[in-house]
Amino acid sequence: MDIAANIAQVEENINAACERAGRNASDVTIIAVSKTKPVSALQEAYDAGCRDFGENKVQEIMDKYDKLPGDIRWHMIGHLQTNKVKYIIDKVYMIHSVDSIKLADVISKEAVKHGVTAKILLEVNVAEEESKFGTDSEEVRALYEHAASLPGIEVCGLMTVAPYTVDPETNRQYFVVLRQLSVDIIRQNKDNDNSGHPLDKIELSMGMTGDYQVAAEEGATMVRVGTGIFGERDYSVTN
Ligand SMILES: *Cc1c(COP(=O)(O)O)cnc(C)c1O
Repeated sequence: MDIAANIAQVEENINAACERAGRNASDVTIIAVSKTKPVSALQEAYDAGCRDFGENKVQEIMDKYDKLPGDIRWHMIGHLQTNKVKYIIDKVYMIHSVDSIKLADVISKEAVKHGVTAKILLEVNVAEEESKFGTDSEEVRALYEHAASLPGIEVCGLMTVAPYTVDPETNRQYFVVLRQLSVDIIRQNKDNDNSGHPLDKIELSMGMTGDYQVAAEEGATMVRVGTGIFGERDYSVTN
């Protein structure tokens, strides 16, 4: 597995997607999804220039955190239990998977306690798959309004996990909906915000190995690529 070559390929594909869409490729951050992968593989990606890593388990972040360079930005992209927030609140750069008021409340409480501001994304189950976490497109507005009012939290944008598909075009509709939701809910609120802060960039975390090029065309600012960088995952090996 040539991790550096894979990263170069993903970058090239994103450049091409952005060119097609008239976007700036520097507005798309590649998050190397390193779940189940050994520290040596992450170090290889780091040496190839990668600084953003995505993990879906609290324990795995804890295990890897001290063994890798301190300038890595860790992204929590998996379902997060409220009782585990305290372990990662001062370790992760961003939590992508906030899908309930209860979780937002706990993140706020722990962030204040640790003296940090937690950057979060709200996870929306745009395709309304039974098996997936995330709020639905109706609930996300209420969740946004609640989370945005909490201390210690910065709501940076939205995230979705689109259905598994062999034809990425079938997921384009979901990426379009997520971008539209971000405009309807977050942009509007920031425009009405009289705090005097400049408008921040709104993050859209969408697209995985099978469909990140379509996601980049539709406005993703973060793509989460695992298999395309590190190869297939072997869940039978515990590391
Ligand atoms: C595993 C995972 C990914 C990466 O999936 P690949 O298909 O291997 O790129 C992206 N996002 C989330 C939330 C994941 O759990």
